[in-house]
Amino acid sequence: MTTFAHTEIFDPGRVDALLRSAPAFDRGRFAEVLDKAGRLEGLTQEEIAFLLRVDTPEDRQALAAVAIRVKEAIYGPRLVLFAPLYTSSHCTNECLYCGFRSRSNTPRRRLSLDEVRRETEAIIAMGHKRVLMVAGEDPLLTARDLADQMAAIYSVTTPKGNIRRVNVNCAPLDIDSFRLLKEVGIGTSQCFQETYHPETYQKMHPKGPKSDMGNRLHVFDRCIRAGIDDFGMGVLFGLYDHRFEVLALMEHIAWLEREFGIGPHTISIPRLEPAEGTDVYETTPWKVSDGDLIKVTAILRLAVPYTGIILSTRESAALRRELLRVGVSQMSAASITNPGGYAEGEGTVPQFAVQDHRSLDEVIREVCQDSYIPSFCTGCYRKGRTGGKFQEMAKHQHIDTFCSLNAVATLQEYLEDYASEETRAVAERRLGEFIERQADPEMRRRMQDWRARIKKGERDIPY
Ligand code: SAM
Repeated sequence: MTTFAHTEIFDPGRVDALLRSAPAFDRGRFAEVLDKAGRLEGLTQEEIAFLLRVDTPEDRQALAAVAIRVKEAIYGPRLVLFAPLYTSSHCTNECLYCGFRSRSNTPRRRLSLDEVRRETEAIIAMGHKRVLMVAGEDPLLTARDLADQMAAIYSVTTPKGNIRRVNVNCAPLDIDSFRLLKEVGIGTSQCFQETYHPETYQKMHPKGPKSDMGNRLHVFDRCIRAGIDDFGMGVLFGLYDHRFEVLALMEHIAWLEREFGIGPHTISIPRLEPAEGTDVYETTPWKVSDGDLIKVTAILRLAVPYTGIILSTRESAALRRELLRVGVSQMSAASITNPGGYAEGEGTVPQFAVQDHRSLDEVIREVCQDSYIPSFCTGCYRKGRTGGKFQEMAKHQHIDTFCSLNAVATLQEYLEDYASEETRAVAERRLGEFIERQADPEMRRRMQDWRARIKKGERDIPY
């Protein structure tokens, strides 16, 4: 193993040792660990390493059952929806697994500000209110340009509404660049480590700025120093042993909490997909099975109960359903991963293959049928409830009070402005049941009142 220079964040040797020394599976210990996790107390690294050994279908089910309970207790039936908006597929990096890698000679596209606005209009016309702006590491797209693109998204107002929150997934920036994004109202700043395994990292990122693993590992320090306390972490499952990745990610989180007093607002769980011009998907020895992705999601839900888990475009509708039960609290819907794709349809090559091709209306109908309340939630951000403040609120179970009302309001807005007859019927019924089940009569009254106001034409009611 080459020397690893960032042991202040996590120590690959320690992660290996944790995996090797995790005690053999023992039913008594399993029950104890699940019991503790069920009390929303999180998990130690040793407990995570132990749970990663769970293997039989019965034990996987027992693990999933506790994760389902924990998810229900903290998030209830709410599910936040968003759409990715790709602004550039140019990239100077050579990530071996990515359709945007520099050497692949697929056609590229960088959107002008007018095109960003058109793309935004198309996304608003679908019914979305939250966007994840995504861009390759494009040398001709400066931080000022990224800030201008964000501002362009926020500037679009149509008779049916606007985008109320822009999260960003771009190359790791420096502090001044993050400050620019902060000035134009960035929501969550997202960056995936891809892999924490140093040798695999070097092998997968042989060229370009991304080959500096330390620069990527320190991205959240710079974010926090720039005043952005809302950040999203993740690894790309399938590049290396998922058990190593989970433990290293948790070490990174523990370090951020020690150094800065805050952890991630969200963790994403992307899994490697086939992409044009690369065979990493076909050749990787580390493919993560559906069962293991469900197990990892359940373990993350128990390890960091108050951190949102994001599922993206990549997974099939059937697997999404399982992942939602055990831990996912946000997901993208009706996504397009090529710049300009919402407004103009197919054009340039997408970043990777999307498995879920349902429209937003279908997703909303199906998640309502599965007893969720889809939400385009945006209230916290406008109220300054981000980063540490959001996590404190979650720990005191206040998510229920604030987020439930916001979920009801934004779903009702969707039903008034966009839904098909069929979706409207299903979702109206679901909202009615959800409101009836509220324990607090004052909350029930307020939800009914807001619903009625929205039906009469009010939008984005302040609270
Ligand atoms: N350029 C930015 C960066 O380097 O962070 C944004 C990267 S990319 C546009 C967004 C994410 O897509 C990456 O962080 C990676 O995890 C994911 N990705 C790349 N190739 C993928 C593939 N073949 N399958 C699934 N996800 C992929």
